[in-house]
Amino acid sequence: MSRLLESNRRSEVEIFATQGCFMKYGSIEYQYAAPIAQALVDDPDFRRWVLSKSVFAEFVDARILNKEIGRHRSNPTAEWWRFHFTEKCRCDGCSGKETDIFTIFESASGVRFALHFEIKQPKDKFKQDGIQSRGYPLRAQCWADKPPAKVLPHQRASTGIFFSEEKREEYEPHLQHFKTLITFEEIEREFPHLAVWHATLNGNAAAK
Ligand SMILES: [Zn+2]
Repeated sequence: MSRLLESNRRSEVEIFATQGCFMKYGSIEYQYAAPIAQALVDDPDFRRWVLSKSVFAEFVDARILNKEIGRHRSNPTAEWWRFHFTEKCRCDGCSGKETDIFTIFESASGVRFALHFEIKQPKDKFKQDGIQSRGYPLRAQCWADKPPAKVLPHQRASTGIFFSEEKREEYEPHLQHFKTLITFEEIEREFPHLAVWHATLNGNAAAK
């Protein structure tokens, strides 16, 4: 997803805050992103499984710093994982771009590493210019080198994408920019209790 305009962003947060009902108002992307982000915190098996597929597989038992990320940013309305971007840096990784799920972990030995995840819901597509996907590793490195003020400092960083198996061919030119590739179908198979997006999406369709 490209970054939303600030006004859209605010109204979405306000709607969330007043209605408390992201199912009704959230984007389709959110219906995939929210349970994945939550499971990274709540479900140690899922967290280990995701880390085992990343370049940080040696640190599968790292703890997730969701509370630290939230405190450092001190934005009471935004969930810890979302709306991470900066317009202060004008590099190709940062300008006009946002990480969909931003995570930082800490290994037992004290190494702090970030994973920047893109979420591509099954109906979504990459723009042909390739700027969005190419920006991910650039931004990951940029923030590890000099974190924006609202980003918890960390030493290392990598990238990942959650997407639908059906789109693998279409996304092929972009996937090289993501070191961790995980499909929704894999999650549905391995962690069916986490894959709540089907129920949510079907529920929304029925309500229309
Ligand atoms: Zn930058």
